[in-house]
Order: sequence, then structure tokens, then C-alpha cells
Amino acid sequence: MVKENLAKTEERIKAACERSGRRPDSVTLIAVSKTKPVRLIEEAYEYGIREFGENKAQEMKEKYDVLPKNISWHFIGHLQTNKIKYVVGRACLIHSIDSLHLAEEIDAYCEKKGLDVDVLIEVNVAKETTKSGINLEETEELVKSISRLSHVHIKGLMTIAPFVENAENNRMIFRALKDLSVDISRKNIDNVSMDILSMGMTNDYEVAIEEGATHVRVGTAIFGERNIVV
Ligand SMILES: *Cc1c(COP(=O)(O)O)cnc(C)c1O
Repeated sequence: MVKENLAKTEERIKAACERSGRRPDSVTLIAVSKTKPVRLIEEAYEYGIREFGENKAQEMKEKYDVLPKNISWHFIGHLQTNKIKYVVGRACLIHSIDSLHLAEEIDAYCEKKGLDVDVLIEVNVAKETTKSGINLEETEELVKSISRLSHVHIKGLMTIAPFVENAENNRMIFRALKDLSVDISRKNIDNVSMDILSMGMTNDYEVAIEEGATHVRVGTAIFGERNIVV
């Protein structure tokens, strides 16, 4: 089942790339395996997937420890400072930085351990009060502050768009994030790149690709519905 779903998802990614004049290899599929057992991750791994997304620090650590080391783990959930130790050194990219305080705590941990970490700034484009992420208007200021840290390296932006029936309703959200990343990129801030745009989930990843996503985070379409609410 997982393999068929992956083939279908890759097909749709390719089609979205073609529609928007992009190369298929310009989009990375992150298989979001949160709440799903190791057995299903192994199925996706056999198919050839090497990028997985998790939103709970300890769950990511447990899966990291038992699965092949050539997997790239993306941490996509809200990160509490007391869980930094589970994520830094294991995740290739933390998608969910939304405060200077969190970035400073990560930097201090990295300093202690002799590590460096790549991160994205999570932007709450739709200003949903239930979601984390910094407001669009405050993002550049936060990027500048974090850019001064020695061990935390900003590689781009991430957003979680609202849940909508019709993905078209999120198009302007994705476009706004892309515009912001172009604006910030033009500022040529030291220690900041805007190469990555992490946006699009099961319901709207095709629209996100049309609007410039470089990384899509797809869970349900690959692994099926999740039983528990996360
Ligand atoms: C769960 C989750 C996803 C995947 O959502 P699906 O709708 O199952 O594709 C993507 N991004 C984040 C941050 C998530 O928490």
C-alpha cells in the first residue's frame, strides 16, 4: 500500500512540476511518518525514500536509533527547549524555528556539543491563532537576529497552511511565503540562505509546488489516516 501511494504521490509531484515549468528534481518529498510504526517506514525506505518527517522529539529519536543511518530526518513539530537534545545531531533540518529564544537555546546546545544545525523559520502566514510560527511582518527581523548565532544556519522558510477542502484557497498563502523568501534573499544577510521553501501537505502539495515549494511534507497520502490527533 505504502509503495503504491508513494508512486502515485511522485507521479503527482512530477505533473505539478511539469505544469509549472519546474524540474522534477527541484522538489524533495518528505514522507511524514509521525505516529506510524517503523514497519511502514521500512516499506517506504525499501521503495527508495530517504527523507522522513517527524513532529515529536522523542519519537524521532526512537525511530532514528533503530532505522538505517542514511535516512535524513526532518523535524517538523513544535520544539520545546528541553527536547533540543533529542533533535540536534539527529535531524538534518529543523523546520519549525519561530523565536529567537528557541534558536539561542539550540545554539548554546550546539556550542556545548561541537555541533551545527540547519533550520527553517516557520511563518504563520494565515495568522491562525492555533498554530505556531512567526507573523509574516516580523520574519525578517527574526531572521536577522538568528543570523548572528554561530551554530544555527537558516536555510529558508516553512509554513503550515490552513486545512481547506479546496487547495486553491491556500494558493495565496504559498505565494506570500515565496514572495517573502525572495525579499529576504535579496537582502544578502550573512549566514542566511533562502534556498528551501517547505510548504504543502497531503491536501495542497500540488498547489504549493506550483507556487515554488522545494520541500513538500506528505503524511496521510503515503501512510494513510492517523488514528490519533496530533
Ligand atoms: C502532520 C504534518 C504534515 C503531514 O500532514 P498530512 O496532511 O498528513 O500530509 C506536514 N507538516 C507538518 C508540520 C505536520 O505536522
